[in-house]
Amino acid sequence: MSGSKDKRIKRLKRKRIWPSVLGLFFIMVICSVSTIAIVASAFADVVSRKVSQGSREATQIAGLYIGCDSDNIDEINGKALDYAELRSEIEAVSVFDLQHKLLWSDCGKYPELDTDKQLDFYLNEEEIVTIFLEDDQEQSIKVEDGELVLDEEFFESMHLEKVCGEVSYLSEDEENSVFQMKMWFVVPADELEICVLQRIDIYNYDLIMPILTIVLVLFMLGVFAIYYIGSFISLIISMHRTTKIIYTDMITGGNNWLHFTKKGTGFLKWNRNGKRNYAMVHLKMRKYRTFCTCFGVREGEELIEKFYLALKKKIKRKEAMAHHENAEFGLLLMYTDEAQLTARIEELEQAMCAVLPTMKMYFGIGVCQVEPGEKDVDQLYNNALIACDISGEDNENKIAFFNIEMNKQRLWERKVEDDMERALINKEFKIYLQPKIDTSEETLAGAEALVRWIHPTEGFIPPNKFIPIFEQNGFILKLDDYMLEEVARQQADWIAQGRKIVPISVNVSRAHFTREDLAEHICRIVDKYQVPHDVIELELTESAFFDDKQVLLNTVKKLREFGFSVSMDDFGAGYSSLNSLKELQIDVLKIDADFFRGVEEVERGMLIVSEVIDLAKKLDMKIVAEGIESREQVDFLAEQECDLIQGYFFAKPMPIDEFVEKYKA
Ligand code: C2E
Ligand code: CA
Ligand code: CA
Repeated sequence: MSGSKDKRIKRLKRKRIWPSVLGLFFIMVICSVSTIAIVASAFADVVSRKVSQGSREATQIAGLYIGCDSDNIDEINGKALDYAELRSEIEAVSVFDLQHKLLWSDCGKYPELDTDKQLDFYLNEEEIVTIFLEDDQEQSIKVEDGELVLDEEFFESMHLEKVCGEVSYLSEDEENSVFQMKMWFVVPADELEICVLQRIDIYNYDLIMPILTIVLVLFMLGVFAIYYIGSFISLIISMHRTTKIIYTDMITGGNNWLHFTKKGTGFLKWNRNGKRNYAMVHLKMRKYRTFCTCFGVREGEELIEKFYLALKKKIKRKEAMAHHENAEFGLLLMYTDEAQLTARIEELEQAMCAVLPTMKMYFGIGVCQVEPGEKDVDQLYNNALIACDISGEDNENKIAFFNIEMNKQRLWERKVEDDMERALINKEFKIYLQPKIDTSEETLAGAEALVRWIHPTEGFIPPNKFIPIFEQNGFILKLDDYMLEEVARQQADWIAQGRKIVPISVNVSRAHFTREDLAEHICRIVDKYQVPHDVIELELTESAFFDDKQVLLNTVKKLREFGFSVSMDDFGAGYSSLNSLKELQIDVLKIDADFFRGVEEVERGMLIVSEVIDLAKKLDMKIVAEGIESREQVDFLAEQECDLIQGYFFAKPMPIDEFVEKYKA
């Protein structure tokens, strides 16, 4: 898998998970902090209000003592007592002089004042009152804009046990309080310090608003958290689904290729020291497309699914398998030795055959044995595929093992594909002409144009090294057009020079017979050079008959109407059918060189040749015998009244200059 593809898939799988996790984390932190802050501030607000109330009342009592002297202090004490009795929260009032000597106390309760600590309070008496908790814990309370602000320590010290520890008696109100604390408020009044012991009760109703606020806030946070957690869970579920989709093959419903490469890479990495032998296997059903044409694509896909299930049953732990494309499967198998691996693959093949026992199925199998340290699953599969491809379509059910030569062949194919376009532009493809000799006169009667590639670095390349590649990748269409055009140009040149010319044939690959306007297309190319059509002959192979028969028949008919001569090349090679002779109205029959090869069957070959010649004559066709290498063959063909001979006996294909020189064309 390419790095960027890998990254894209990882990104897809991880999509939004981190923002969501972080989001959830922050939300939880924010929820906790804000809840604590809200609770604290609501409570502090209640306490602060209560303390301000206490402070105001202490200041009221202290106000009575302003302007007080020793004469009327008893009277003032009486007023202070009256005031204190009216307020149930005031538990004690005591009066000190500036030396902290107790002058009066209403009920024997008074704080023990600490001289040092009191100093602060004198510095800014308008803003600070000193408060003593009953258990002697001292707190300073700041007054800001007329509001009392509690410092942190105060808040911390305010737990129930501590402040309620010394409650002496409880009124009805006190019983209802949620919690209670007692504080000494010390307020300066001229030459005196008035200390008031205040009970601070916090009742249920005091907390209604804070509690409501907390409940509301918690409710909102809860709703938000539930929503967020819900969407987070659904994100995880959808990620899980995405992962499943990413790794699922749409045809088999099982693991797909991505999963295979991931799993396979994992196994190979784990086995990097080569403790086990692994082999990558490419397994494909041959003629799957034909199966689909006969039985339907749906049935074809069902068959693949059954193959998948059959193979899956045979796959062991630490092995991987997946559907690749069409009817192809990739398998990463463990093995002990080559014989065992072969037996195992045959067993898999049988399992696949058992899926449809009524039909004879053939499989193409390529194997690439994994070297320790190799972990590129795609590359290994590619090697297995090369092995299968190179072993050929006919190599039915034979297991082909990958080797370096095959790799060289594949590299060569790649090079050819890389260079072909440039070669066409740079006219690296050259026409070689092979003469066709009149059998009776033994004079030049025609020629076949055969391509050669004069490569700038590879040198001379014969057509069998690149034509099959071009036939596969479609470049043959361009090359054939080029050859036809070059031949037409050459004929036009020779006509213009007043030379005697013979018909030259060009090969028309079967790939052309998909276009319905092929005859018109050929006509257009030739007509660019204004050459008579009868100096161009078109060689088609019989195999084109098995593609689109109707296109072939129409094209041949039109070409002949346009005045071109049409020949059937390689007659007798491969799947010959006399039927094609019946349906195809052609001018020339080229008998394949194979009839003249071989030692044992030579006589039978000759017999067939003589009959074919006879038949062709009756069908009003000219005969060209190809691949003729000996005088005996020439004599035999002359006897049989074969029209033309093309073969090394007379000449090999040669460059145009040489051809002109030799035949004085
Ligand atoms: P083909 O069309 O059957 O061409 C005849 C082949 O037989 C030529 O091989 C020729 O050199 C070879 N040959 C001729 N006489 C003898 C002989 O006496 N003995 C032996 N052993 N061989 C002989 P070549 O030129 O290598 O071409 C091979 C094939 O490549 C051609 O077979 C043709 O199918 C294809 N080809 C060549 N040029 C073109 C082209 O321009 N277009 C297309 N589509 N195919 C081409
Ligand atoms: Ca030919
Ligand atoms: Ca031929």
